[in-house]
Amino acid sequence: MTQYALYLNYEFCTGCHSCEVACRNEKKIPLGDFGMKLLEDRPRQHADGSWHWDYIAYPTELCDLCADRVAEGKMPSCVQMCQAKCLHFGTIEECAAMLAEKGEKAAIFLP
Ligand code: SF4
Ligand code: SF4
Repeated sequence: MTQYALYLNYEFCTGCHSCEVACRNEKKIPLGDFGMKLLEDRPRQHADGSWHWDYIAYPTELCDLCADRVAEGKMPSCVQMCQAKCLHFGTIEECAAMLAEKGEKAAIFLP
């Protein structure tokens, strides 16, 4: 059976929260709970003086990879709404290849 995943390239995540809102609307998730949760790791200064500030959107245990939408041939709602094109839905093999190519500031999520 083909297994699917979400790939996140968070180097270019703007922290816009659109994926959170898209998921909430799609899955009818009440305020205070999340199917997609945006984490913020900021700001930290390294010993060399450079600054670190990342946003990372991760699907929670409520994520089912938008099974209903995918069954209709649509993209998951969060993927469709991410204007920065940080999110990709595909097979585990596709996502793993993208992760290997990116090398850093990327992740794969299997709900
Ligand atoms: S794929 Fe998961 S995180 Fe994204 S909108 Fe669908 S249920 Fe939410
Ligand atoms: S993953 Fe995309 S939609 Fe979600 S916060 Fe980042 S840029 Fe916005």
